[in-house]
Amino acid sequence: MTIRVRIAPSPTGNLHIGTARTAVFNWLFARHHGGKFILRIEDTDLERSRPEYTENILEGFRWLGLNWDEGPFFQSQRLDIYKEAVEKLLAQGLAYRCYTTSEELEALRERQKARNEAPRYDNRHRNLTPEQEAAFQAEGRSCVIRFKIADDREIVWNDLVRGTMTWRGSDLGGDMVIARASEAGIGQPLYNFVVVIDDIDMQISHVIRGEDHIANTAKQILLYEALGATIPKFAHTPLILNMEGRKLSKRDGVTSICDFQKMGFTAEALVNYMTLLGWSPPESTEEIFTLDTAAQKFNFERVNKAGAKFDWAKLDWLNSQYLHSMPTDQLTDLIIPFWQAAGFTFGEGRERPWLEQLVTLLSQSLTRLVDAVEMSKPFFSATVELTAEATEQLQKEGSAVALEAILAAVASQPEFSETAAQDIIKQVVKEQKLKKGLVMRSLRAALTGDVHGPDLIQSWLLLNQINLDQPRLQQAIAVN
Ligand code: GLU
Repeated sequence: MTIRVRIAPSPTGNLHIGTARTAVFNWLFARHHGGKFILRIEDTDLERSRPEYTENILEGFRWLGLNWDEGPFFQSQRLDIYKEAVEKLLAQGLAYRCYTTSEELEALRERQKARNEAPRYDNRHRNLTPEQEAAFQAEGRSCVIRFKIADDREIVWNDLVRGTMTWRGSDLGGDMVIARASEAGIGQPLYNFVVVIDDIDMQISHVIRGEDHIANTAKQILLYEALGATIPKFAHTPLILNMEGRKLSKRDGVTSICDFQKMGFTAEALVNYMTLLGWSPPESTEEIFTLDTAAQKFNFERVNKAGAKFDWAKLDWLNSQYLHSMPTDQLTDLIIPFWQAAGFTFGEGRERPWLEQLVTLLSQSLTRLVDAVEMSKPFFSATVELTAEATEQLQKEGSAVALEAILAAVASQPEFSETAAQDIIKQVVKEQKLKKGLVMRSLRAALTGDVHGPDLIQSWLLLNQINLDQPRLQQAIAVN
């Protein structure tokens, strides 16, 4: 059997982490089996669908490296296919026109509520005579198309994640609406219907999607049967939960892939993390891997039934691992847009080799790419603002003496280098009879405005190259 899977996002918002994780599982499964991964945009909800969301979704998949083999197909361009299928079901007597008004439906719901019953349509228009239909039409009522669901049907499937699933027809809310009607005949077809038509048409072998679709699957299986089509295999993946164990939602802040990108997560770390959200590789100690490696090992036996908790600390850890082992030129390419967004300007010594040196200096301290902005401030601004601790340091006895001696030494140095910097410090310690710690801390406070930070000698070298070390030493001496 050729494995064909699909991801079918609705472009009613930016690419959501849940959809992206479902896409990851589909992609892994397709690649594991040498099958096809298909992208379908479910844009039948004309009011809520927006082209900019489609663009965001495609961008997000590209960024994550989830390349697709076919598509994107757009449901909005396939309406004729759906209408034809509705006609077929109507002609076979498997679907019918229902003229129940929204007021009547509301009244029905109220009665059911009063009796503590689950809301369901009572199938009242299932067997209308042509005369009754004509009378409703004469009244000017509009209609919807409903698909018949037998209450006594049992629907069973073997879910690849959840095992045997059983539903009763009577639990599906009565005959289901598959299309709205319009003046001209069959109107807007609805999700549960079009998804089946498309999955049949696109020869989807496995439907892999979130567990919030389980009830839809039961309905959809009945549609496959009615349409005489082969029923695909189903895998319902666990939901993503927040740390409190509730479904991850907008209230949890970040949910769109582009937000994670803006926060400075790399695509590789994020995709790696999403792979672990509900799946565990056979060698459970191995947590850092590429999508290709995961694809070799992926199967549904190791996908959890229970919801997967979204753990920011774990994602941060993974991201830092990727950043710490990334080649400098690649990391520089990723950091530059963050510097640009922060308004930092380049040139006048801040050319590529200098930028790469700065990245080397910071790389091991990064958790997210955006961290580079705060850490690089002393290297991009003309002057530094002193922290309270730095001011205190500069006011310590011996501090100004040390800095004056350093300034004199560096000003007379024709070729500044790492060795020269170290020699200057040693010489000042010796000649001024000062503690090395005091000299180092004062130098750091003068150069960076802070008493903590990355390697001091390397920071000094970088500032020297853009001629900022001497003015900062002068300013710091004046503080005393
Ligand atoms: N458009 C649906 C969604 O975004 C797709 C569900 C499915 O995969 O069938 O949830």
